[in-house]
Amino acid sequence: MTHWAHVVLVGYGEIGTKSSSVRARMEARLRENLQAVLDDRSLDGTVDGEWSRVLVRDVSDPETVAAACAEVPGVVWARPALACDPDLDDIVAVCRELAADHPESTTFAIDGDRTGARDDDEFSGSDIEREAGSAVIDETGAPVDLDNPDRTYRIECREEEAYVSTERFDGPGGLPLGTQGKAVALVSGGIDSPVATWELMRRGCEIVPVYIDLGDFGGADHRARAVETVRKLARRAPNFDMRVHVVPAGEMVDRLVETIDDTRMLSLRRLMFTIGAEVAAEEGAHSVVTGEAIGQKSSQTGANLAVTAAAIDYPVHRPLLTWDKTDIIATARDIGTYTDSTLPVGCERVAPNYPETNASLAAVERAESTDLFDLAVQAARNRERV
Ligand code: ATP
Ligand code: MG
Repeated sequence: MTHWAHVVLVGYGEIGTKSSSVRARMEARLRENLQAVLDDRSLDGTVDGEWSRVLVRDVSDPETVAAACAEVPGVVWARPALACDPDLDDIVAVCRELAADHPESTTFAIDGDRTGARDDDEFSGSDIEREAGSAVIDETGAPVDLDNPDRTYRIECREEEAYVSTERFDGPGGLPLGTQGKAVALVSGGIDSPVATWELMRRGCEIVPVYIDLGDFGGADHRARAVETVRKLARRAPNFDMRVHVVPAGEMVDRLVETIDDTRMLSLRRLMFTIGAEVAAEEGAHSVVTGEAIGQKSSQTGANLAVTAAAIDYPVHRPLLTWDKTDIIATARDIGTYTDSTLPVGCERVAPNYPETNASLAAVERAESTDLFDLAVQAARNRERV
């Protein structure tokens, strides 16, 4: 029985709450982004759209396609499914087919829905559930468990077509990439900044990744690590240019270390933000993103975060502000950036022996010479794409 088509159903959440014109635009963007991921990975599949449903047809490897779709911003879930006629007998036959690989003695439930216009004498969602349920019992002898089933047969019968699936891949949610403008992400290649970058991608922002090369205090392996983490993220958005902007800031850092002591780390962060703002202005981005979290290190106390953000007029977004390190690490593993982020890199430390934890803006500013900021802007202008 192979006249049924393999498809992948893609569900989204927040897009569905938008007005119809915004929603149509976001759906179109989501379809484009999904198709780009499938093409980039050489997976068969044509992304098709219907009202409140995005669907991939002509798939030859439904599970891999569903897993790939579940990596894309805006997607809440993806399900490999069989599509058949919106006809009760056909739906039941598909359920029998899927029950063939139903693992022994696992419990199941049927979750059936019927949508679209129909005559009163046609079948309903509960008719589907009853008929499909007895077919699965008949095939497998498996017990029904409506509260905590091992396997759920999800059936959606629409006017033109019906879909049956037993597997669900959870997506990241959020909004389609490219619907929320551009953000400059300061990416160090540590654990935090790739996760922060991903959070902005997840909410639909196109990313301008910036790595600041600290010269003698940084290093080539440090930079490779940053580039590698961005490459991992870029796999989820191959239709966007995510080449890293590498900023040669060695001279700026040398000058910083020569001239400032206790408040050095705060000024370094302020200089990094200045670089971010310069790139944002040139690339048309609306904000600068960092992986900072309140209290994570001395430059990230509540007071110090205020001092560093004051260096630029652009908003500094810190999506991890309230995250615990354990949660950041869990997400880094989830999105595949953790391994690269924890590669050991040799680099000299810029930090002074006694870093300031409660700096006043005035004191930090007093210690800074203006040529430092000129060097920052100059470094930003000398950036290279990698
Ligand atoms: P991460 O925060 O990514 O784990 P880290 O802990 O080594 O790296 P921090 O000292 O916590 O970096 O820096 C705070 C934030 O400043 C980073 O999250 C990142 O956004 C930015 N940042 C630090 N170093 C660099 C760099 N060399 N290039 C670009 N951005 C950087
Ligand atoms: Mg950090």
